Amino acid sequence: MADKDLICSFCGLSKAQTNLLVAGQDAHICDSCIEQAYGIIIEESKREESNPKKEELKIAKPKEIKLFLDDYVIGQEQTKKILSVAVYNHYKRLFQKKSDNDIEIEKSNVLIAGETGTGKTLIAKTIAKMLNVPLAIVDATVLTEAGYVGEDVETILTRLLQASDYDQEKAQRGIVFIDEIDKIARKSDNPSITRDVSGEGVQQALLKLLEGSVVNVPPKGGRKHPDQKFIELDTQNILFIAGGAFDGIDRIISKRLNMQVVGYKNSVEISDSDSKNLLSYISPKDLKDFGLIPEILGRLPVLTYMNNLDKKALRSILTDPKNAIIKQYEKLFEMDEIKISFTDQGLDYIVEKALEYKLGARGLRSICEIVLNDAMFELPGSKRKTLKVDKNYISNKLSNSKLNVLKAAS
Ligand code: ADP
Repeated sequence: MADKDLICSFCGLSKAQTNLLVAGQDAHICDSCIEQAYGIIIEESKREESNPKKEELKIAKPKEIKLFLDDYVIGQEQTKKILSVAVYNHYKRLFQKKSDNDIEIEKSNVLIAGETGTGKTLIAKTIAKMLNVPLAIVDATVLTEAGYVGEDVETILTRLLQASDYDQEKAQRGIVFIDEIDKIARKSDNPSITRDVSGEGVQQALLKLLEGSVVNVPPKGGRKHPDQKFIELDTQNILFIAGGAFDGIDRIISKRLNMQVVGYKNSVEISDSDSKNLLSYISPKDLKDFGLIPEILGRLPVLTYMNNLDKKALRSILTDPKNAIIKQYEKLFEMDEIKISFTDQGLDYIVEKALEYKLGARGLRSICEIVLNDAMFELPGSKRKTLKVDKNYISNKLSNSKLNVLKAAS
């Protein structure tokens, strides 16, 4: 066939009408058809990415989730295990094929009770990191019932949308961590005495989010008002993790346990280590007595607790997690070609101070900042290339500091 007779087998244009005609075995394709075909491939692969086929979905098994958590979260074995299962079930449910005969798997939203600074937020963050899903961390204390000063509960979802770069699909598979859920407990036993706009009212408003429904979300947050355009979000597949310290709940738990002991002849035997953390016995009934309404508890069916961090745990938090505080400082100094080293005694001393000032895990970082601030200021650009941080060095820096301010702020 003469060159001039060649045509694109896809669009029929002659060779002269194209910039390029690529020959195959029995056919030809022109440059614009190649471009079009390439465009289709890209579109198709994008669609598959956002809508993966069932067999392609790989949900990490509970043991894998737990192993991942172990890299970042020290201790809290029970909670890590419970959460690994809850997250696994949640995502299994998400990928469940919908057919009429299917048993509907219910949502496994989680409630974690534990003192502040014991790693509740960290666990939620780590799970989101592992699953590569967006995470919104919100504080329940700013929420109020619609129509009152404060934020509507829907703004929780605004945060999730923001964390997902406004990708609706992504947001609908995200995780929301609601901190300080205990602060919206009912203030009095009789809700009719006064309006309880930041307590029971908020709990009521939260119900529809937790149970899974389509919610109109104000994309920029703030108050809902009629002129604003809303984005619809289905909360069906959003995993909610609520956390709270529940100050004083130990009294409720111990009262219940004592009653059981009396009533059923030592039906509960509290071991020594457990008695230090009565939270390990927490039950939905205790939370109800604390002021959470039964409907909320029903929608947070997975209940777990955090242990307080002892000396050993705090010491481990300093150096063991994948992004441990000390590893971070080593990296920071290394970027200026400075080798920083800590003696064991020095590290123990940091832990002692955190315990002494009741600063918990959060205090470890504040103490390190105080101790290393001078060095981080002086050393970059200087001739000195090593720094050894021992107990003396630390106690010197701390005695010249206002560590007491931290104590007051705790
Ligand atoms: P909470 O949400 O319970 O108040 P966070 O998760 O915010 O506590 O913890 C505060 C910081 O303390 C975390 O960023 C982390 O550096 C450290 N931390 C707390 N608990 C742990 C833990 N169990 N393992 C590792 N680090 C922890």
